[in-house]
Amino acid sequence: MIDTISKQELNKAIQRRRTFAIISHPDAGKTTITEQMLLFGGVIRSAGTVKGKKSGQFATSDWMEIEKKRGISVTSSVMQFDYAGKRVNILDTPGHEDFSEDTYRTLMAVDAAVMVIDTAKGIEAQTKKLFQVVKKRGIPIFTFMNKLDRDGREPLDLIAELEDLLHIEGYAMDWPIGMGRGLQGLYDRQNKRIELYRSEAKGEQFIPLNDEGTIDASNPLTEDSVYQDALSDIDLLNEAGNKFDMAKVARGDQTPVFFGSALTNFGVKTFLDSFLSMAPAPSAHETVDGATVQPTADEFSGFVFKIQANMNPNHRDRIAFVRVTSGAFEKGMDVTLARTGKTIRLNNATEFMSDEREQVKQAVAGDIVGLYDTGNFTIGDSIYTGKQKVQFPKLPQFTPELFVRVTPKNVMKQKSFHKGMQQLVQEGAIQLYKTYNTDEYILGAVGQLQFEVFQFRMLHEYHSEVEMTPIGARTARWVDPEQLDPSMASSRNLLVKDITGQPLFLFENRFAENWFHDKYPDVQLTGKFETD
Ligand code: GDP
Repeated sequence: MIDTISKQELNKAIQRRRTFAIISHPDAGKTTITEQMLLFGGVIRSAGTVKGKKSGQFATSDWMEIEKKRGISVTSSVMQFDYAGKRVNILDTPGHEDFSEDTYRTLMAVDAAVMVIDTAKGIEAQTKKLFQVVKKRGIPIFTFMNKLDRDGREPLDLIAELEDLLHIEGYAMDWPIGMGRGLQGLYDRQNKRIELYRSEAKGEQFIPLNDEGTIDASNPLTEDSVYQDALSDIDLLNEAGNKFDMAKVARGDQTPVFFGSALTNFGVKTFLDSFLSMAPAPSAHETVDGATVQPTADEFSGFVFKIQANMNPNHRDRIAFVRVTSGAFEKGMDVTLARTGKTIRLNNATEFMSDEREQVKQAVAGDIVGLYDTGNFTIGDSIYTGKQKVQFPKLPQFTPELFVRVTPKNVMKQKSFHKGMQQLVQEGAIQLYKTYNTDEYILGAVGQLQFEVFQFRMLHEYHSEVEMTPIGARTARWVDPEQLDPSMASSRNLLVKDITGQPLFLFENRFAENWFHDKYPDVQLTGKFETD
């Protein structure tokens, strides 16, 4: 397979990959810190590019207007850059909880996670949810306590909160000297230096620590009470705090904690340098047969973790995002789709960065490739080269909880309506159902915002104005067709079928479901997914 690059080159290329996602509650500063990282990587020249501009590699399509209007990040994109000898892949994840399903799947495609926390707010709901997904994967988690330029909570409390709320040990890599207006700098335990917040001249940003872990008494900072406070906190951490343990970090049982201010670009570089030195290279993946696929294997393999239509509104396209799990990807290669056994030629791929300096032109294990897709792929698909079948486990899916009826406003535009419905549903964020006998369209989603995005995209990408009538929150339960009698349906348990034709009831509430169980005790009802 890898005829154009030597095994040695491939291994080297894989070893320098660092693929991670940033998780946070909305507004904690994920976008701002991402931008700072991209600045260090030389990918963008000024901050404000990622969310603001519509051109460039990250801003994707017109529907980002929704993001701007509502001030949230809806898209998951991939950003790649070279920094400090590493090739970094950042997989962006939407912060809004209505899109957490997309985020969950993206987290299946990374080797490490960065958790950004607002020091004024501590651990918030969405951070906690996403943390649990990362924790379940057993990958390393690095914490950035953000917004140090504002008054926040006591750093010791923030560390304690990691243990109390998330049950993960925190190890402070650095420590704030003051906060808000009183912010003087960081006490950097790892690099044994003090990093000043406002340094007068270049080169004076860092003051090395002596063997006692302090700075020279002649430095005016030693007079400052915040410096004294930081020293006593550090004493406490040294005496009674957690001991740094790389093995625990690797398993996700301990998180290295960094402090800083993404907005003023303080502490971000220190964090990035340290994080990249500790974050793992691409890891091995288990298949459903219990085999382990090593990233450096000769054969190529990967899985689809996300599908998105109309990345570029000028070309009608759908992109399947593939995490490369082993070997190297080359344009035009033939792969087998594990689900069908079919051979597919991967002629059309999009790279998230092209770099002339890189010897290995191909994407390798750890990278993400975007494949232009004409309907071959669904989320969770495994693809591979070679004779040995490679099938990775299914990705997490969630049963929708909110439902709406959809109809086109203009009956003359049925064609674009159906096309849009079909393509957007294939992305996986919303589910399509039809009423059992009358074939009316019903959409299900995990959050309301997904309907809004759907409606907006139908209008702007397919020129189809859709009418949505809310059905409200429902519990979806599948029923064995053998046991089904359509007369079991009522307005409180709507009978519909999913896209595979399987019948299910949409129960109005728990009460309606219990009533059904009592009335038809022999009828088996099941949730669809492991998350139910
Ligand atoms: P996201 O929703 O997590 O992507 O958050 P953003 O990066 O968009 O940041 C949310 C808001 O917090 C924006 O107004 C940022 O300018 C602001 N912000 C981000 N980082 C900092 C910081 O370090 N200090 C202060 N004061 N504000 C910040």
